[in-house]
Amino acid sequence: MRRPLVAANWKMHLLRAEAAAFCAGLRAGLDAPNSPSGAAGAEVVIFPSAPLLDTVARSLEDSGVAWGGQDVHQEKAGAFTGDVAAAQLRDAGCGWALCGHSERRGYHGESNELVGAKMKAAEAGGLRALLCVGEKEEERKAGRTEEVLSAQLEAALAGGATEFEIAYEPVWAIGTGATASPAQAQEAHALLRAELERLRGPNVAAATRILYGGSVKPENAAELFAGKDVDGFLVGGASLDCGKFLAIIAGSAG
Ligand code: PEP
Repeated sequence: MRRPLVAANWKMHLLRAEAAAFCAGLRAGLDAPNSPSGAAGAEVVIFPSAPLLDTVARSLEDSGVAWGGQDVHQEKAGAFTGDVAAAQLRDAGCGWALCGHSERRGYHGESNELVGAKMKAAEAGGLRALLCVGEKEEERKAGRTEEVLSAQLEAALAGGATEFEIAYEPVWAIGTGATASPAQAQEAHALLRAELERLRGPNVAAATRILYGGSVKPENAAELFAGKDVDGFLVGGASLDCGKFLAIIAGSAG
């Protein structure tokens, strides 16, 4: 049985005081009686931008909530201005790194191969990767969703990483308000799990969490989560509102 996983991608939002207030609200919500994040409930991860990591670390210490970097460099250290190394993220208390978010692929030209190298670097630095894959609108319209998802997964895993979970994030649904239907999400998740089985065998396929991301909100979380291969969510916009994020966690109680 896969433990549900719900992650917040704060992108380039929030200042330290806002992040601290969010974390205090999150702790209080998760500590409340009947909280959905108990031992059998969802695992929760926050992905803040780098300047907020220390605030998040202080605010969430011993809370059971983990945090991670929104990106990680593929090299251990060096002259890479503006980038962040896995060891630096680990040193900031991170347990996770997002790899291959569509905004990194789109705005920073990250290839599947680079994403695979980042996953491997994350693992070498003691982090678990959350690999993001997803097709663009024109690719879906052209009937290429399966081909695109398979290629993204295969190329990223060719980097050799073993410590990862996956987020299916159709690019046309990110930040647009257009959510994949529960059937579309389940179909893509089943495809990714089948590909994972082909690439890494049945045990890895059965154990890996595949999250859905793309305009998730409290109103649609439970119906999306009902898909048998949907193991939780990667949440962007709605994760900036603690109440909404808590409601999404509640919609993903295992
Ligand atoms: C994301 O950026 O990973 C995301 C899913 O964003 P949103 O929830 O805003 O669509």
